[in-house]
Amino acid sequence: MEMQMLRFARVSKTFVLHTQGAAQLPVLDGVDLSLLKGECVVLDGPSGTGKSTILRMAYGNYLCGAGEIQVFHEGVWLDIAKAAPREVLAMRHETMGYVSQFLNVVPRVSTLDVVSEPLRMHGMEVDLAKSRAMALLERLNIPEKLWSLSPVTFSGGEQQRVNIARGFIRDYPILLLDEPTASLDGANRMTVIALIREAMARGTAVLGIFHDAVTRDQVATRILDVDQFQQAT
Ligand code: ADP
Ligand code: MG
Repeated sequence: MEMQMLRFARVSKTFVLHTQGAAQLPVLDGVDLSLLKGECVVLDGPSGTGKSTILRMAYGNYLCGAGEIQVFHEGVWLDIAKAAPREVLAMRHETMGYVSQFLNVVPRVSTLDVVSEPLRMHGMEVDLAKSRAMALLERLNIPEKLWSLSPVTFSGGEQQRVNIARGFIRDYPILLLDEPTASLDGANRMTVIALIREAMARGTAVLGIFHDAVTRDQVATRILDVDQFQQAT
C-alpha cells in the first residue's frame, strides 16, 4: 500500500526583504509534490532555484506564501501553511527530522549531548540514549576524544557528521536532508548513503537535496526538477 506522508499543493514563495525597502524576491510558484512512505524524492536544479526553501517551508521554518503543505502527523493531515506554532513544534517532535546544511552549534554542549538530545527529549533513558549516540558517532568516524567536546571548534566535515548523527538518531516518519554529504570524504559519504537506505527500508519518507550525482543516484527513487517551479518575473 502506497502511503502519502507529505504533500505540497500549488505552493508559492516570494521573499520580502524588509531591510531593503521591502524589495520582493519571487522564487517559487505552483510547487506540487507528494512523498510516499519509504521513498526518497530528490530535489534537483541549479543553485538558487529554491530547493532549500522547499525544505524550510516543509519544516515550518519559512512561511509558505500560498498553497498547502500537508504533513501526515499522528494519523491526521496537518497543513503546515496554516498550523499554529505549537502544532509545528509537535510535528517536528514526532514526525519530521531535518538535517540542515550547517550545524547550528550550541557552545558548551558536548557532542554526545547534541546527538542524544532528540532521544532524551522523546523520553529515552539517558544512558541508553548516550549509548545509541556513541554507536552512531563511531559509525560516522567521529573520534572518541571529541565526544565530550562541543562541536564549535570541529572541522566542517566533522560538524556535518555530528549534524547527520543528530538527524538519524531517531526514526522519524519523514526526514528532510539538505546536502548532508557536501563536505564529506568518500568513506563517510558511503556511510551516509547506507544510513539513508536503512531509513528508507524502515519506511522513512525522505526528501533530499544532494549536490553530487553519486549520492543522488544511490538513494533517489524519484528526481524532481525544481526548475519547473520558478516564479515568472
Ligand atoms: P537553493 O537551495 O536551490 O540553492 P535557496 O532555496 O537557498 O536555493 O534560495 C532560493 C532563492 O531565495 C535565492 O535567490 C536566495 O537568495 C533566496 N532566499 C533564500 N532564503 C532567503 C531569505 N531568508 N530571505 C531572502 N531571500 C532568501
Ligand atoms: Mg540550498
